Amino acid sequence: MSKKQYHPLLQSFGVLLVLDADSRCIQAASTNLTHLIGVERPENGQLSLACVLGKRLSQRVRRELRGHQRLPSPLTFMRSKHSNVRFQLHAYRVDEQVVVEIEPLKALGKRRLLGTVNERLMHLAEATHQEELLDYLVNAIQQLTGHDRVTVCHFDSDWHGLMVAEAPGKELPSLLGQRFPASDFPAPLRQSYENYPMRLVEDVNAPPETLAPPCPTANLSGSFLRAPAPERQRYLKRLGARGALSLAMQGDSGLWGLVFCHSATPHSVEPPVRDAVRTLVQMATQRMLLLRARQEARYLQRVQDSLVLSAGARSEPQNPQQLLHEQAATWMKLFRAHGVVLWLNGGAYQAGVTPTPEAISQFVLRLERAHVHSGPWCTRELAKDPLTCSLAMPEQCGALAVPLLMNSTQRAWLLFFRPEQVETLYWAMQPATEQQPTAIAVPSVAWHEEVMGKSEAWQWVERLAAVDLGEDLTLAISAYEISSLNMHLERERKALAEANQRLEQLAHFDPLTKVWNRYRIEEAINAELVAAKRYAAAFALLLFDVDNFKQINDTHGHSVGDDVLVALARLVESSLRGCDHLGRWGGEEFIVLATHSDINAALGLAERLRSLVAELHIEGLKQTVTVSIGVAVWQPGDSCKTIISRADDAMYRAKHGGRNRVEMALEPEVPI
Ligand code: GH3
Ligand code: MG
Ligand code: MG
Repeated sequence: MSKKQYHPLLQSFGVLLVLDADSRCIQAASTNLTHLIGVERPENGQLSLACVLGKRLSQRVRRELRGHQRLPSPLTFMRSKHSNVRFQLHAYRVDEQVVVEIEPLKALGKRRLLGTVNERLMHLAEATHQEELLDYLVNAIQQLTGHDRVTVCHFDSDWHGLMVAEAPGKELPSLLGQRFPASDFPAPLRQSYENYPMRLVEDVNAPPETLAPPCPTANLSGSFLRAPAPERQRYLKRLGARGALSLAMQGDSGLWGLVFCHSATPHSVEPPVRDAVRTLVQMATQRMLLLRARQEARYLQRVQDSLVLSAGARSEPQNPQQLLHEQAATWMKLFRAHGVVLWLNGGAYQAGVTPTPEAISQFVLRLERAHVHSGPWCTRELAKDPLTCSLAMPEQCGALAVPLLMNSTQRAWLLFFRPEQVETLYWAMQPATEQQPTAIAVPSVAWHEEVMGKSEAWQWVERLAAVDLGEDLTLAISAYEISSLNMHLERERKALAEANQRLEQLAHFDPLTKVWNRYRIEEAINAELVAAKRYAAAFALLLFDVDNFKQINDTHGHSVGDDVLVALARLVESSLRGCDHLGRWGGEEFIVLATHSDINAALGLAERLRSLVAELHIEGLKQTVTVSIGVAVWQPGDSCKTIISRADDAMYRAKHGGRNRVEMALEPEVPI
């Protein structure tokens, strides 16, 4: 481990002792030992801790340090023999040594301080806005410490500091609203605040104390008494400060900011007051983080609500264009954007001020190639970003692009665009350059900078909200696509069912009379033959043919002939039982399939039909329409062909017998 060389200079408001690991022998003491505590150094002998603290206290220090890194809490003591001054003592181990820091304590109304601090803490806990909270904090600190100027400096993502709150005084100029360059807060300095969150400089001009005898092995980097390094001294002088107290405000992801207390004259701060200030700063920081977390949660909720509410108001999913149309204004407000684009399936839905469709499509093409992960991409300087600088987007300066993972191969994009935001920054000091490492300026003469060509920065919470919105949007678009696909499938299904129905109609029904066609009636006869064979249940066939139909056609025309066929079929069909069937056998011939019918029932039916037909009146036809009917009853061994053939024979006999008659089929010849 490399040991860093620390400046061995110390501030004079306390005494520092370097002891051996056993906390017995004082190896070195700060040069103000005699002046502050009244302990004389022996001419040649060793000074022990007991000489300074007395036997009992030095034993206690040893006991409490045994096996520990530091004393659990500061100890106080009085050297009553010499004076009435009380002292506070801190001790901790560093490497192979023990460091003891001793500070005189002035008489202080402790109870009053506690009350004041409690009251301040209660106020802090009631603050509802960051501004209010920090204002209260700086004023409370100023009242406690009496520093002339108390400010809160907040770091941006580049570690530039902005003075966001201030309790000003008469002696020192205001720093509120001014920026301090990141070079003022180098990483080691920030790191030291993380380890030691409070620094006190009582008098930057005070001649420093040193260690006697010199003790190069002593590591005093954690000492509260160490004197500020020369560059810190110069810095404080530049700010007009002689006395300074600074405290870290530790956020959840690093240093959020620093509290600076400055005074134009040397300024001491008693340990209890320092502790009180530290508590206030810690509480205020916690409260601020809480307020910010709440605010961010509210913001995220508003973004989420924007989509959920609109989706909830509808029973059917909205198409992406409707969605954008309805939500664009809300989203642009929430994301402080002046244009929004939804890039989906190679096309853009746009709202507000956006680049041209060509520029958008180029932009998306590049994003697809360059931005392969699923997080958002953003810039506040489109004209300078390598991805976008060559694209013509003159009205936009900032862009936030969120990939929407529609499926494993396809990404859609939600794009927000921001206009230029010309910003005037007030720098307390010019940022350091390589040639000019620390340019010193008088703080009151702030250095102005106009920042052009940039949009407002995309905040962390905005990027997070955009990702949330992107996920919800992906779901909404998918829901819409699924629902349109289902609708499409439903239409297809209906069309298919209709086509099937038409086919069925064509396959089984006669288009003119709408009764069963030859194919279907044949099918029914075959089925009946199977049943008859199995159960020996007789059935009958009535085959009938319109008499002299040719003449009707010839006299009245083919269409009247058609009407006769239609009327006849309707009449016969409506006269049948539900279990009987009518089919057109061809031309003007029809078959009635009469189930569960013996010869008598069949003859009765045939006669009934014949006479009904004979009474049929047809519009435009004076003559009566008659039919000749042949009746055949199922015989064992019948096929479709044989039973029809017997009915056909009977029908011809009816024709020959004078028409408008019913004839029964002859018994088949029994094969020998
Ligand atoms: P018969 O009493 O001996 O049965 O005499 P017919 O005139 O009815 O007999 P024929 O078989 O000579 O005539 C049948 C006619 O029916 C011939 C044909 O043009 C006509 N025809 C067949 N199908 C249709 C049709 O769908 N519509 C019309 N209008 N006529 C048809
Ligand atoms: Mg015929
Ligand atoms: Mg006929």
